[in-house]
Amino acid sequence: MITGKNYIGNQVSAKGNKTFKTFNPELDQENEIIFTEATSEEIEEAVLLASIAFKEYSKISGAKKAAFLNAIADEILGLDQDLIHMYCAETGLPEGRAIGERGRTVGQLRSFANLVLEGSWVEATIDLAQPKREPLPKSDLRKMLIPIGPVVVFGASNFPLAYSTAGGDTAAALAAGCPVIVKSHPMHAGTGELVASAIVKAAQKMGMPNGVFSNLNSSGIEVGQLLVQHPKVKAVGFTGSFKGGRALYDLAAKREEPIPVFAEMGSINPVVILPKALKNRHQEIAKTYANSITVGTGQFCTNPGLILGIQSDAFTSFIKNLSDEILKIHPSCMLHPTIKNGYEINKTKIISQKNVSVVANFDLEVSNNFAQQAIVTVDGTTFLENPTLHLEVFGPFSMVVQCENKAELETVITHLEGQLTGTILADDQEIENYENIILALQNRVGRIIFNGVPTGVEVCESMVHGGPYPASTDSRFTAVGVNSIKRWVRPFCYQDWPNELLPKELQNENPLGINRKVDGISTTEKI
Ligand code: NAP
Repeated sequence: MITGKNYIGNQVSAKGNKTFKTFNPELDQENEIIFTEATSEEIEEAVLLASIAFKEYSKISGAKKAAFLNAIADEILGLDQDLIHMYCAETGLPEGRAIGERGRTVGQLRSFANLVLEGSWVEATIDLAQPKREPLPKSDLRKMLIPIGPVVVFGASNFPLAYSTAGGDTAAALAAGCPVIVKSHPMHAGTGELVASAIVKAAQKMGMPNGVFSNLNSSGIEVGQLLVQHPKVKAVGFTGSFKGGRALYDLAAKREEPIPVFAEMGSINPVVILPKALKNRHQEIAKTYANSITVGTGQFCTNPGLILGIQSDAFTSFIKNLSDEILKIHPSCMLHPTIKNGYEINKTKIISQKNVSVVANFDLEVSNNFAQQAIVTVDGTTFLENPTLHLEVFGPFSMVVQCENKAELETVITHLEGQLTGTILADDQEIENYENIILALQNRVGRIIFNGVPTGVEVCESMVHGGPYPASTDSRFTAVGVNSIKRWVRPFCYQDWPNELLPKELQNENPLGINRKVDGISTTEKI
C-alpha cells in the first residue's frame, strides 16, 4: 500500500505539511494519493543514518551485497501488477513499456550482484616490497577501489524504474558499498515509494544496516539542494535537464568540501547521412528515423534531434520522405503536463528562429498532454551562427541541417556541444573518404553508431552512456552498465600494511580468488 510518506531508513515518516499529488497525463487528471514532502529534519535524519550505515555497509562482503541486490530485484518483481498500474497511472506510458523497464531494472540489479559476487571489479593491484633494492628499499604497496560514502540519487522523469529509485545509479552505488538517499521524482512519487518499499524490505530481510537506503519526497528544488549541500553526502547522481544538472553541479562545487556530481543531461544526438547512403536508401532511412524520433514520444536522452547531410536532390527527397513518414505516426502521450509544456515552448522557440523552415508539424487536434511531432530544416551557416538551434527539444522533434559541402559538414560537427551519441549512415565503403568527419564526431560524443539508430541503450559492460559536457558532467564515466560503479568509488592504497589486517581482496592468500595485478602481471594466484 502506498502511504505518501518518506522512507527514512526503514521507517516511514511524514513530519511536514507541504503535500503534492502525481498526475495521470493520459486521463488528464491528478492521481488521488497525497505525498508529503520531506522536512529539513527528515533530511538530516536520513543523511545521519546513511553516514552511520556507511561504517558497516562499506565493509560488507561482495557475497552479502550480491544477495541484497538480488533480494531487491525479487521484491520489485513481487510488487507485480501494483507496480505496473502505478507506473502507467503516473506516466501515461503503456503497460508493455512498464514491463520492459521493470525487466531492465531487475536485470541491472542482478548484473551488479554478479559483479560484486565475483569481486575482481575492485582492481586490486599489488606491488611487492623489495627490501634489498638499491639505492633505497621499495615498500609493499597494495591498491583497490573503495566506496566513496553516502550518495544522493536524483531519479529521471523519463525512466521511472530503470533510472530512478532502484535504477542504474542506485544499483551501482549499493554495489560499490555506498548507502543511497533517493530524492524521489515528483512526477512518479507513487512508483518511487513502491520501489522504495521493496528496497527496504530486502534490506531488512538481508540484515543490512538501517539507513543503507532512504527515499525522500519533494515537489520543488529545496530538498535536493539541501541534500547536495549536506557535508555527510559524498557524491551525487542525476539524470534530467541541463538546467537542473548544472545547478546541482555548481552547488556541489561551492561546498566547503566539493563533491562529484555525475549528471547526465541533454543531448541532441547528431546523425550524419553520407551521400551514397542518401542516394541508395533515403526512403528506408526516412522510415526508420521517423520511428526513432517518435519512439517513447521522443522522451529518450538518445533521441535523434539533429540530422546532418550535404545538400543534394537525394537529401531533399529524404526530407520529404521523413516528413511524410512522421506525419503518418499517431501522436502519443507525454510523461507530464510540465514536460509537454516544455516541449511546446522549446519547439516554438526553434521554429521562430530566423531561416528555420518547418517541413512537418502534426496539426490535427490531439488530446491534452499528447505531443505533435515536428521536423524542421536549416542550412549549415544558419545552424553554425545561432546557438539556440543547438538546444535539446525533449520530445518527438528533429532538425535537419543541410550543409553546403563536406567542409561545412565537418565545421558543423566540430562546433557541436558534447553529445551522448553520434551516428553515421554510409554505404559502399564511402565512410573511408570521411575520416575527418568521423574524427570530428568522435571528439564530440560518447558512443558512435554505424548504420543504426541511437535510441535503444543496451545494458552491458562495453556500453558508454555519457559524453563530453554538457551531455554529462564527467565524460570519463558511463551511467549505464556495470562500469558505472566506478563513479562511486575512489582508489585507496595500503603501504607496508600487516597482511592479516588488509581487506581480503589484497591479502597474500587471495582468499576471494579474484583477478589481481601482482608486480604488473594479471593473476588469480596467491602470493
Ligand atoms: P529536471 O527538471 O532536470 O528535474 C530532475 C530532478 O532534479 C527533479 O527531481 C528536480 O526536482 C530536480 N531539480 C531540478 N532542478 C533543480 C535545482 N536547481 N536544484 C535542485 N534540484 C533540482 O528534469 P525533469 O523533471 O526530469 O524533466 C524536465 C525537463 O528535463 C524535460 O522536459 C527535458 O527537457 C529534460 N530532461 C532531459 C532528459 C535527458 O535524458 N536528456 C531526461 C529527463 C528530462 P523537482 O522536480 O522536485 O523540482
